[in-house]
Amino acid sequence: MRSALLLKRLACFVLFISMLSTAVFARQGATHFREVTVIDGTGSPRYVADVTILGDRIARIGKPGSAKTREGDRVIEGRGLILAPGFIDIHNHSESGLLREGTAANQVSQGITTLIVGPDGGSPDSIGEYFASLRGKTAVNVGAFIGHGTLRTLVMKEDLRRPATAAEIAAMSTLLERAMKDGAFGLSSGLEYDAGFSATTEELIQLSRVAAKHGGIYMTHMRDEEEGVLNAIREAIRIGREAKIPVQISHIKMGNKSVWGRSADAVALVNEARKNGLDITADAYPYVAWASTITVLVPSRKHEDPAEVQNGIDALGGPDKVLITSCRAFPDYEGKTLEQAAAFAKKTTVETYIEIVKNGGAGVVGFGMNENDVKTFYQTPWVMVSSDGGIGGRHPRGTGTFPRVLGLFVRENKWLGLEEAIKKMSLMPAERLGLRDRGRVRKGLRADLVLFDPKTVIDRATFTEPQLFAEGIKAVFVNGVEVWDGTGTTGQLPGEILKGR
Ligand SMILES: [Zn+2]
Repeated sequence: MRSALLLKRLACFVLFISMLSTAVFARQGATHFREVTVIDGTGSPRYVADVTILGDRIARIGKPGSAKTREGDRVIEGRGLILAPGFIDIHNHSESGLLREGTAANQVSQGITTLIVGPDGGSPDSIGEYFASLRGKTAVNVGAFIGHGTLRTLVMKEDLRRPATAAEIAAMSTLLERAMKDGAFGLSSGLEYDAGFSATTEELIQLSRVAAKHGGIYMTHMRDEEEGVLNAIREAIRIGREAKIPVQISHIKMGNKSVWGRSADAVALVNEARKNGLDITADAYPYVAWASTITVLVPSRKHEDPAEVQNGIDALGGPDKVLITSCRAFPDYEGKTLEQAAAFAKKTTVETYIEIVKNGGAGVVGFGMNENDVKTFYQTPWVMVSSDGGIGGRHPRGTGTFPRVLGLFVRENKWLGLEEAIKKMSLMPAERLGLRDRGRVRKGLRADLVLFDPKTVIDRATFTEPQLFAEGIKAVFVNGVEVWDGTGTTGQLPGEILKGR
């Protein structure tokens, strides 16, 4: 009697489970890309295949025409289109943007599936709290660095223009340790900015040791990207070597005319360090203009010294090379070059600069780079792609970076092959961050994927219209869920929080 009852219960249970699983599979059909050209992210040559997503994974990659479809499945005709791993942006400023706009339209529209925030020394104060506030609310996966400038500000408050004391470094180390345990990928620095500028190399080495202990990396916006850029690279190398930590140079560039053509020297310096065993890589955005605060024009920080200001403006190439993108004290200057703003104010460019800095500064775009240096960096195997942009940014890189590389650098300029470019956008940043199940198209890995047309993909964002979406990105999937359908966001929020080792 009892065993019969048990059997009946068991049968009921089995029936229930099978119904449940049928319901699950019926709701969650597979997505098949038929006869699509796969570029898998490793740099290997492209091939044509049928690729199937089931749940959040790449379930099958088979011969073209071999996918077996069932009722409820979705089929996407992939002929002539490229299926690549979703792009991983290792240097992104969407910290607060993601909280406002989890669908991240200008990010997913360019094929980005993972954003790494907290670069340049500036991050949320608490990585743990930040992750908690984003969980389940973003279209993209999100990871973070803890900012050195943020740690300094938490410990030293306003008193930042001096080296930290031993006690302050100890206090920063405790906060850094907390951030690493909460899942930060490492320590980011912004040594050209006020919060980080006065830090000694020793301070950075000590903090980097703490990050290294927890498997982190040291990612740096270096102290100088202009006249002193080679010394700044030497400093980054020293920090890496003495703290025994992998190094990522952020947005590597030759930032003004005085160093144009020296990219080969920068590459040689890093090659030498790599040869000597240091794990050092870099990223670059595909534009000849940087965006920053106006004060980076005067590296000596003597913002009221007319001769120093004149030197800074000259070094960039002149006041027509500085575009003011935001200026709270003088909103009339926004959209004008420094030259135009000075004419408008009936002042000299030096006087205009000094007045702006005295009244809270400005956000500027500096047309300081040379295309040949950008090309050199893009052709260097250890340089990956990053945007340095974000949601709502004023520089077109925030919306255009990845399609610009694919359309302009690969298709039009032929600076690098498509397979190589994709690798710089996917597997390279994935490996740099230690993400093992993303960054390539392979069976069993997470289905972070971008489908695009190699014949038409191109950026459209400009310095006057930085929010214009790119063309040619047909579909973007994050964890198996479509977030961009080629015309707009789908409203789905499948992004996950990604944590460091
Ligand atoms: Zn930066």
